[in-house]
Amino acid sequence: MALRAARYIGDQRIEVGNVEGKPPAAGEVAIRVAYNGICGTDLHIVQGHMDTRVAMPAVIGHEMSGIISAIGSDVESLTPGQPVTVMPLRWCGECASCRAGHQHICQRLDFVGIDSPGALQEQWTVPASLVVPLPEGISLEHAALVEPLAVAVHDVRRSRLVAGETAVVIGGGPIGQLIAVVARAEGAEVVLAEPDAVRRAFAAQQGAIVVDPIEGDLAAVVEERTSGAGADVVFEVAGTRGTALDATRHARTRGRVVFVAIHPEPVPVDLHRIFWRELEVLGARVYEREDFERAIELLASGAVPADALITRVVPLDDASEAFEALLAASAMKILVDVQGVRA
Ligand SMILES: [Zn+2]
Ligand SMILES: [Zn+2]
Repeated sequence: MALRAARYIGDQRIEVGNVEGKPPAAGEVAIRVAYNGICGTDLHIVQGHMDTRVAMPAVIGHEMSGIISAIGSDVESLTPGQPVTVMPLRWCGECASCRAGHQHICQRLDFVGIDSPGALQEQWTVPASLVVPLPEGISLEHAALVEPLAVAVHDVRRSRLVAGETAVVIGGGPIGQLIAVVARAEGAEVVLAEPDAVRRAFAAQQGAIVVDPIEGDLAAVVEERTSGAGADVVFEVAGTRGTALDATRHARTRGRVVFVAIHPEPVPVDLHRIFWRELEVLGARVYEREDFERAIELLASGAVPADALITRVVPLDDASEAFEALLAASAMKILVDVQGVRA
């Protein structure tokens, strides 16, 4: 069975062609993929930064929605026709992290769509245990945002943010914006720092106080909003050396600083500030099942500006152009309509 798919073939190129599909084996489910969102990780793959991890030619994509088209022999809890998304993590179940209950940071984690084939294909076969059914009232377009939203839900949950607190979000890309949305949904005040004017305007529209970190003075704004105390929580989402060093500066005494961005190289942090203010520094990586469920709940409730976040939807044939557009400009989220063909 030939399936149309977008594959990363190396040399910064995405190619749309046919791959061989297979019916679901025991314990597996086949999903007719509807939409797949492209994220920063996918851009890193296509830029060649993850070539040691990705087996080329690679079908990538891990932010998706779709309809179950077939189920394997011993799958009981799912049925064809069901709208679903996928939590793209496969863990070993045996390592120390797994045994401690932290399967999402399994020491042998397989991130599906990076380490194994992803969703940018007409039909995607995955283990049934990864499938998360969607409730009524959430469109398949919006459901393609569940995965990145679950990242933001996890980050906010790690921070232990509560209503009435102030959160600083450094970086207004898709994940930073989603953290701001989730933090506000939890009842926090949000100050978001972002140099790009379009992204700042987006955050302001969602109710965040915005600061241009180049022209403006983030520290002064945070001080003013917190009567000089500093923010309860700071999220570092920009991933630069400067922002990593700056993050601890905005947290109050015993505040929490969450490092969300991926820093591939070691970067300096202000250990004296951590000592002086008794700060708590937290890492946050991917999500757990409860974060996925909460993300679905937030999207279904209308608390997330999903339509505004989706800059545009392109057919699978135009997947390569979508990657180029994301690399060139400050688009939020581009979805690939995986069943769509160029008009
Ligand atoms: Zn992603
Ligand atoms: Zn494990």
